[in-house]
Order: sequence, then C-alpha cells, then structure tokens
Amino acid sequence: MSNAEWTQRGNDVFIGTYNRFPVMMVKGDGCRLWDEDGKEYLDFLAGIAVCSLGHCHPAVTKAVVKQAESLVHVSNLFHTRPQIELAELLTRNCFADRVFMANSGAEANEAALKLARIHSGPGRYEVISLTGSFHGRTLATVAATGQSKFHEGFEPLPQGFVHAEFGDLEAVKNLIGPQTCAILCEPLQGEGGVRPLEKEYLQGLRDLCDTHGLLLIFDEIQTGLGRTGKLFAYQHTGVVPDIMTSAKALGNGLPIGAMLTTDSIASSLVPGTHASTFGGNPVAAAAGVAVLQEMLSEGFLQSVQEKGAYFTARLEKLAGQFPHLATGVRGQGLLLGLALTEQGIRHGADIVQQMFANGVLINFAGNCVLRFVPPLIVNKEEIDQVVDILARIFSDIQ
Ligand SMILES: *Cc1c(COP(=O)(O)O)cnc(C)c1O
Repeated sequence: MSNAEWTQRGNDVFIGTYNRFPVMMVKGDGCRLWDEDGKEYLDFLAGIAVCSLGHCHPAVTKAVVKQAESLVHVSNLFHTRPQIELAELLTRNCFADRVFMANSGAEANEAALKLARIHSGPGRYEVISLTGSFHGRTLATVAATGQSKFHEGFEPLPQGFVHAEFGDLEAVKNLIGPQTCAILCEPLQGEGGVRPLEKEYLQGLRDLCDTHGLLLIFDEIQTGLGRTGKLFAYQHTGVVPDIMTSAKALGNGLPIGAMLTTDSIASSLVPGTHASTFGGNPVAAAAGVAVLQEMLSEGFLQSVQEKGAYFTARLEKLAGQFPHLATGVRGQGLLLGLALTEQGIRHGADIVQQMFANGVLINFAGNCVLRFVPPLIVNKEEIDQVVDILARIFSDIQ
C-alpha cells in the first residue's frame, strides 16, 4: 500500500483533530525518517521536541526491550526499579527533592496545579500565567494556556486562571491578590513562537513569589532535558522555581511526564490526593533512565550549545540575506525559531510545505516563526543541509 492509500484509511477513521501530512511514517534512525513510499526526511521536528536522542536511539531501544521482557506494568501500588532510578537521576540533577510521575506534559502540569492549590490552602487557588503560553489540552491546562484560540468552544473553563501580558512584570504584579497561589510560565515559550523571557524578568517573578508567598512553577516540558544546552533551561538563569514540570523528551518517544518539587512543598500531597494508573510505567521509565544517562554523559550538553550556536549563526546569515522574509533568530540551544516578517508570515505555512516536499520536517509556531527542534544528536552537515534547502525556498519566493 502507498502513502496515499494509508492516508485515505486514516482520514476515514480518525476524529479530525489533526491536519496530518499525507504520509505514513514507517522507520526512524537518528535524525532521519522514512515514509511508506521509501522517501527519506531530515526530521527537525523530532516528534515535537520529543526524540531528542534521535529516532530509535540504541541505548533507549535496548533499555525498553530489556524492561519489556521482565516487567511491563504493576501500577503505583508497588515500587519498580526504573521509576526509582529515574526519580533519583532527575532529583540529583535539578533543584527538586521529589517527583510525581505522569504520562504526558498536560498531566504533569495538572499535578503541578493541584499541588499549588492544596499547598496554598483554602481561598488561594488562582494561577497567573502568561499570554502566548502553552500548557496542555486538558481543561485546566487549556485554561492556564494564554491563547484564546485554544479556549474557544470549550467555555466555561475551570476557574482560577488569569493571564498577564508576556514579559510585563507590572502586569503580573497587578494580578496578584489574596486568591493567588502561583505563577506559572515557560522560561522560553515554545508553541507560542520560541519567545524567550529575560533573566531579569524571571528573577522579577521569583521576587514577586517570595514577597507574596506564591509558588513559582516552571513548565519545562519543551525547554527541559538538554533542549537549550543545559539539562533544564532555568539552569541558565540562576532563577530556581518551586515546582517544575517535564515530559516530551523524557522518554525519547515513550509517554512519560514528571512533576518535580522540594521536600517541604511535596509534603502537601499525601496518599489519596493525587494518582495515576500508568504514571512512571516501568517501560517508559526505563527509557527515561537511558535518556538521562546519555544526556548527562561527558560533553553532551556542551555539544548542544555548540551546535545551537552554529545553527543560530547560519540562520542569522540567512535572515540577513532575505530581510524581507525573516527578521532574525530567537531561542536557545537547539530550540530555535526563525522570526518572519509580515510578508514571510504570509508564506509561513507554504514554506513548511515546501520544506516537506524537499524532505525536511519543520513547523510554523505561534503563527510567526519557523521552528527548528532537531534531535540533539544532529550534526553540522545536517544543519547545513536544512539551511541550504531553506535558502533555496526563500530565493524561489523572491
Ligand atoms: C507540549 C507541551 C505541553 C503539553 O504536553 P502534552 O504531552 O502534549 O500533554 C505543555 N507545556 C509545554 C510547554 C509544551 O511544550
């Protein structure tokens, strides 16, 4: 069967929540994917910042197979070795002392929101998040998400969420009241268009939280696990949150999320207050252990910073060559966005399609940037290839 036939079958059976590319992917290896018709792609989407070690990384595959041969699931009524090892690896390498394991980013954020409320006590329930943010698709995380396009049709949304204008510290301050329990943000907005927050701004949030007794929650679902060149993006800034969420790259493609916090805040969640049947499942957790071991190995994060700098320089040069289409580069490490001009934005979706036709997978984020989130194991030749193809497409637009 062909891509076209499979696409037809898929379109006949799925609820239409996605506009999928008309291909069926059948194989992945490193930064490359192959579809049903044998066409090869350079994958600079990495399953939406998930397959950070590349597709079918041998250490992850080995860990998954080995775990699946001995124990696949027992629930959280029992301990399992991969889950303990993963929690230890996470807490040893960030501010947190304790972990709650979930299956996805939205679930990790739900756990964070529940913790913020129960820890803060009666009457203190409201969370301030930022415009342009993205925190997930469950009702509470959609309410936390600061983009109205994700709210439409789903009202009334759960109460207790307000949004401050991105980057405006005064706006956050003005929203704080006796009902406020937490401030939630991504240190660098991903879905919202690769928009970084200044170190000073994040420190300002920290100070507001300290002054008013609020919890600072960092959503590092996209920025975490090496994506920005540190294990977590907050580690570039010196601003330490009270609660942090992780998911996406944590299992290199296996579904797993985590909510992390300190001993004293964690003590507010006691048996019966929160749970997940699958959370931290042994197979997904075994993948997570392999991911962290690889990322913490000598030189790995340093190489992400170097390749990020190289990629940034190449994209900046491209922006300089096509100033009517692109204005410059945003982001950090290998979470990069090429910001487009108004004319560029009109071509944004078409550029992504042209890249796809040329065998390169990227996307158009926040309706303003071409987003590049390649596997962190990408090499300079692959970066060159992608920039060269993009340059050809840009010059065709002229
Ligand atoms: C992807 C993402 C989420 C949602 O994660 P899911 O696993 O899709 O639920 C939440 N926050 C951020 C910052 C994300 O990038």
